[in-house]
Amino acid sequence: MNVLVINCGSSSLKYQLIESASEAVLAKGLCERIGIDGRLVYQKAGLDKEITEAAMPTHKEAIQMVLDALHNPESGAVAKLSEIGAVGHRVVHGGEKFSSSVVLTEEVLKEIEACNDLAPLHNPANLIGIRACKELMPGVPMVGVFDTAFHQTMPKKAYLYGLPYEYYEKYKVRRYGFHGTSHSFVSKRLIQFLNLDAADSKVIVAHLGNGASISAVLNGECVDTSMGLTPLEGLVMGTRSGDIDPAIMEFIAKKENLDITGIMNVLNKKSGVEGLSGVSSDFRDLEKAYNEGNERAIAACEVFAYRVAKYIGSYVAAMNGVDAIAFTAGIGENTSFIREKILAYLGYLGITMDAEANKVRGEEKVISTPDSKVKVCVIPTNEELAICRETVALV
Ligand code: AMP
Repeated sequence: MNVLVINCGSSSLKYQLIESASEAVLAKGLCERIGIDGRLVYQKAGLDKEITEAAMPTHKEAIQMVLDALHNPESGAVAKLSEIGAVGHRVVHGGEKFSSSVVLTEEVLKEIEACNDLAPLHNPANLIGIRACKELMPGVPMVGVFDTAFHQTMPKKAYLYGLPYEYYEKYKVRRYGFHGTSHSFVSKRLIQFLNLDAADSKVIVAHLGNGASISAVLNGECVDTSMGLTPLEGLVMGTRSGDIDPAIMEFIAKKENLDITGIMNVLNKKSGVEGLSGVSSDFRDLEKAYNEGNERAIAACEVFAYRVAKYIGSYVAAMNGVDAIAFTAGIGENTSFIREKILAYLGYLGITMDAEANKVRGEEKVISTPDSKVKVCVIPTNEELAICRETVALV
């Protein structure tokens, strides 16, 4: 079956068409600047990218353009649209309602809408994409795959904050966690790759991308994760602060004369390794500046790696041990000097890194030595493929 995977943002939309039996990507691309001017990037497997500038006032026109490109007689990936058997949509927040993927009925869409205030930037955009797809592809089954679902197995002690309990009861303020599709995909693949017994395994997944999170997976189920009610908590990220003393917010608000919106903007967009270094949020730029001796870039890289190492230590405590650790996403898969810095803190676990193997970029590999007590691997994530598999399983 050909599955169209859609990841809708507020002004952009990424897509892939995947043939589910071979798991081959038939075509992929994105729509950018939806509602502004509009740009479609389309690439059929084996061919060059095609870029079309065209007005897309709403997500509906954007999806129409994607569908037109997919069955265009010259470079289309399918001869007719009826060859697309199902659509898998990424949905950011499923609240406590969704602990697994679901077929998107009208009733389910209403329940997703009820989670909108937990992810006000993402869920409404996801819903617009789903509704536009339903309108343009009537009768084609649609599945929602949630970023939060994999983390729903966390115990109460891991998801409750030390806040008045009524905020949890009234407003559902708790830890949800994000990147769940990636944590699920990578933890399963890690267990398979190392031939571990899924029912008796302790693994930690470090998803280190522009947004970064880490999770503890005990016997195949998530027991803790670093992102919280929102994706701001936890690790130091590209431009997000991660964990800070909450009192800093009031302190800086007074000093800089900022309101709560201004403070949130600083914590989400002006902090992290970019805010620390003043160089970039991209580790390719940071590595260059680090090697040139830029002190702030050096500090940013040290802070980033130290925070990851501290979380790994806390998750070893949460699971009373660890069998294997996986690095994934842009930084986890590609940036060997950061992996090396993180692993340098973990000698007490009996971890030894294989310096040669750690040069790997973007492919599955064990990067610990054969005698390392804990196996450490690079496992590339593939959220689109994970969404495709979930979709096929449900339709
Ligand atoms: P992601 O959010 O998973 O796409 O990761 C994005 C981040 O990964 C970028 O900001 C870079 O810091 C890092 N990254 C991606 N590719 C590379 C690469 N080839 N070498 C070093 N860092 C990379």
